[in-house]
Amino acid sequence: MAILKLYTYPDKILRQKCEPVAAVTDEIRRLMDDMLETMYADKGVGLAAPQVGIAKRIIVVDDKVSEDGEPGPNPRFLVNPEIIRKSEDTIWFNEGCLSLPGQCAEVERHRAVTVRYLDYDGKEQTLDAEEYLAVILQHETDHLDGILYIDRLSRLKRNIIIKKLQKQSGE
Ligand code: ZN
Repeated sequence: MAILKLYTYPDKILRQKCEPVAAVTDEIRRLMDDMLETMYADKGVGLAAPQVGIAKRIIVVDDKVSEDGEPGPNPRFLVNPEIIRKSEDTIWFNEGCLSLPGQCAEVERHRAVTVRYLDYDGKEQTLDAEEYLAVILQHETDHLDGILYIDRLSRLKRNIIIKKLQKQSGE
């Protein structure tokens, strides 16, 4: 496995609409293994392929990762994930993103979602998720459509974060 280069704001790859994966091949599995390792190395709980420079509809998620990046018992690989059901009720969650380092903000999300996807073996699965896992899945599937969590903030809050990121990268 290998740790991949992380692409950060304002890289154009983060704004691209990603292509569906035609088949879950060994090459795709290798990419997912590398994405997971990269995610743990950066103490993340989710990572989408465009964040490592690949415009394909793939995400990896681990809602049980510890604070020092120790893997949980059940990391998830989701190919072509699609949110097929969303709860009407919403929750606010303090979100960060490995592509917007050092920043976070409260984002409103659906409290529960159902996601249909292909798993590591290419089998179709559905996953019912609530709360934290549901938030991660919404954040990561947004990435596949070129959407970042800052897009879901008020313009004022978004601009504050963008200014901080610009200051960071200018230092
Ligand atoms: Zn993110």
